[in-house]
Amino acid sequence: MRILPVPVLQDNYSWLVVDEADRTAAVVDCAEVAPVLEAARAEGVRVTAVLSTHHHFDHVGGNEELALATPVRVYGNADDASRIPALTDGVRAGDRVHLGGSVAEVIFIPAHTSGHIAYHFPRERVVFTGDTLFVAGCGRLFEGDPGQMMSSLGRLAALPDDTRVYCGHEYTVRNLEFAATLEPGNRAIADKLAWARSCRAEGRPTVPTTLASERATNPFLRWSSPELRASVRERCPEAGDDDLEIFACTRRLKDSF
Ligand SMILES: [Zn+2]
Repeated sequence: MRILPVPVLQDNYSWLVVDEADRTAAVVDCAEVAPVLEAARAEGVRVTAVLSTHHHFDHVGGNEELALATPVRVYGNADDASRIPALTDGVRAGDRVHLGGSVAEVIFIPAHTSGHIAYHFPRERVVFTGDTLFVAGCGRLFEGDPGQMMSSLGRLAALPDDTRVYCGHEYTVRNLEFAATLEPGNRAIADKLAWARSCRAEGRPTVPTTLASERATNPFLRWSSPELRASVRERCPEAGDDDLEIFACTRRLKDSF
């Protein structure tokens, strides 16, 4: 399985997941059709499936057009069927999606939207997290609350350390700048920020990341860090010493960063 980034819209990534044995590909989150088909053509593969993580337009905006252009199965949360265009295969937590020789398991991770799902390939140690877990960040809470986001991120964080995480946006530099304000003494954050800036200066993606790297740098997985807790409580004295309150305040601080 090979995974290629397809930059679309302003800062979104679609991901082309290539099965090299049968020369087919799946696209994770199809916002725009032309760049995806162009990437598939360049690889010499046929797109046969779409894996939608959530209903936002910048993730599913190309589903209808792609389904008209070529025969595809469109996977997405069965409970969001009315909001995922061209859906053919509704899935729920624990369901498996077979793509050529690979198998993805569906993980339910609501909060950014109420129906958000991730696609986890355990054998390949890969997970597609849409707008829930970003590099050094998490999605905004449009249809859920901080407790829900905390447990959704917990489900992802339970995957093995070397799992590669592919998310839906290039937000890394800004996210790490925010993380550095809460943990100025965290060397892993400073190093990753310098690396991310150089990637972007050269036009390279900063995605994927790994869960090990996220545990070391992502403020939304680091609510137990004493330095982060002290920084958050300084800015939100009402947070007290409660894990969920620390997490919720971290999210609020990021909203206005
Ligand atoms: Zn979204």
